[in-house]
Amino acid sequence: MSDVLVVSEHRRGELRDASYEAITAGRELADARGGDLHVAVIGGDVDRFAEDLNREGVDAIHVVDDGEEFDHNVHQAAIAALLDRTDAGTVVAPNSVNGLDYAPAVAEDRSLPLVTDAIGFEYDGGLTVTREMYGSKVETTVDVDGDRHVLTVRGGEWAPAEGVGDAAIESVDVDLLESGARVTGFEEVGGGDVDIADADVLVSVGRGIEEEENLELVEELADALGATLSASRPIVDNGWLPKNRQVGQSGKVVTPDVYLAVGISGAVQHVAGMKGSDTIIAINTDPNAPIFDIADYGIVGDLFEVVPELVDEFA
Ligand code: FAD
Repeated sequence: MSDVLVVSEHRRGELRDASYEAITAGRELADARGGDLHVAVIGGDVDRFAEDLNREGVDAIHVVDDGEEFDHNVHQAAIAALLDRTDAGTVVAPNSVNGLDYAPAVAEDRSLPLVTDAIGFEYDGGLTVTREMYGSKVETTVDVDGDRHVLTVRGGEWAPAEGVGDAAIESVDVDLLESGARVTGFEEVGGGDVDIADADVLVSVGRGIEEEENLELVEELADALGATLSASRPIVDNGWLPKNRQVGQSGKVVTPDVYLAVGISGAVQHVAGMKGSDTIIAINTDPNAPIFDIADYGIVGDLFEVVPELVDEFA
């Protein structure tokens, strides 16, 4: 039971970074327990992902080629089958919409303790998981009973696994659960196919932009930088950008190479979604804005002056 099973994640035909981060978290736990690391890839047409998941430290890859897009029943049945046929005691899944769909079901099905949104853990004969509470204001540790668990891990907290492993790759057939539900298709929420979590460079706009008409300014900057536009929550709440552009605790967790925060104060709920960015740049008129506490580079200035200059520079 010392092995760990990581469940990888893919969307619209592409593996997501969360998979490689979960592999790192899984390897860390497997090392601490002296076990092997198994990785599952589940869904329609997923054979092609196996090689890419074969990162350093992965001992076995299990391919369950079944279903279409993400399907709760296929995931639950596949994970149950893999727990039966491997020595995996702990399941590690991304703390994503999908992960939060099947992880509780797996935990309930197997009567295992579930800890969601882990940002760290230690294993010393027993598992202690670190989580945040109250909008990331408080950090807590949770001692988890037993040596079998289900964990979901927050994006951006573990580095993506790299290198090439020599994992054995096997195909697994599973018996699907009886269910009255089936997945009939995939429909993107408003905002098109943009997934800010996949962007390398994000220009993120906040309430400092004042009016919807002014968004054009940051759109120009995003174009000039080849970046994707994201936002703080007030911009989304105002209906100026769709929900899938929101960064933060109730939006998306992003880990771009560069995060340029324009007129964003840096509230804890926002920072929870972007603090894992490689390089953070902030433009803000207020030198005491909390965003400067985590920024690598800061410009204390009026965005209506600074942004046009940057557009001129980079366009
Ligand atoms: P403000 O805090 O109003 O900051 C605007 C900033 O712009 C200020 O720092 C100001 O100095 C600067 N500014 C003003 N004019 C200019 C100018 N001309 N040039 C340059 N700078 C200027 N927020 C999120 O973003 N994402 C979330 O997922 C999220 N989830 C939440 C969940 C809960 C349960 C709660 C309670 C809140 C959540 N929030 C979230 C809201 C969060 O608390 C903040 O209210 C929000 O992040 C503030 O957005 P902002 O920085 O754009 O606006």
